[in-house]
Amino acid sequence: MAIRPLIAGNWKMNGLGADGLALAQVIAERLRGGGAGLAELLLCPPATLVRAVAETVSGSDVLVGGQDCHAKSSGAHTGDVSAEMLADAGARYVIVGHSERRADHGEKDATVRAKAEAAHRAGLIAIICIGETEAERDRGATLDVVGRQLAGSLPDQAKAANTVVAYEPVWAIGTGRTPTTAEVAEVHKFLRERLTARYEDGGRFRLLYGGSVKPENARELLAVADVNGALVGGASLKADSFWAIATACA
Ligand code: PEP
Repeated sequence: MAIRPLIAGNWKMNGLGADGLALAQVIAERLRGGGAGLAELLLCPPATLVRAVAETVSGSDVLVGGQDCHAKSSGAHTGDVSAEMLADAGARYVIVGHSERRADHGEKDATVRAKAEAAHRAGLIAIICIGETEAERDRGATLDVVGRQLAGSLPDQAKAANTVVAYEPVWAIGTGRTPTTAEVAEVHKFLRERLTARYEDGGRFRLLYGGSVKPENARELLAVADVNGALVGGASLKADSFWAIATACA
């Protein structure tokens, strides 16, 4: 059976109430009207909007996720949000290990793995991000880097039903630059092989591509073998561009 694609919008630190809810409302209405083909649509607003976005899209098939969670369920961690809190607010997914978290907050693979385990404990699907920097690609270390990140960031108990891997080359995020389709294919084939070697259901994990996905390049990126959807940053902040990407895999 084919893997159902996932198109996930990562709003990052963008979205005040009125605009965020209006965006969510338009996406939910378009999905209710049909047309996104077989793709599952996910919105990951900032934590302040998770509950309100979940309420706004309820009754549609649009899903909601967080952008990060703490590894613990509760406690003295000022400013953090737990996976349970996200689930309680209506989230079904949570992104962990985004390169901006790894860079801005020094998150290492072990931390990312602990967060993914927390997501699983709370019943959330973890979207685990990995990807090489430009310097790593330039010195031919891409597969070494993503292989190490994959090994270290995924829990041993991960399953296709609770874990999505997003390959996001750091140099492609927010830059307008993307790898060639051949480069994406090489990395995704490698990741698929690693997943299949490690997990019984490794052939069924969804593998997203992320990094400057736009309406203009979505169709060719989503057609690459073993690309099972996209993690979209900038282009997810406008209903028209997110919808164009969502319908590009139909
Ligand atoms: C991201 O941050 O996950 C991302 C892919 O961003 P952008 O689409 O803006 O490159």
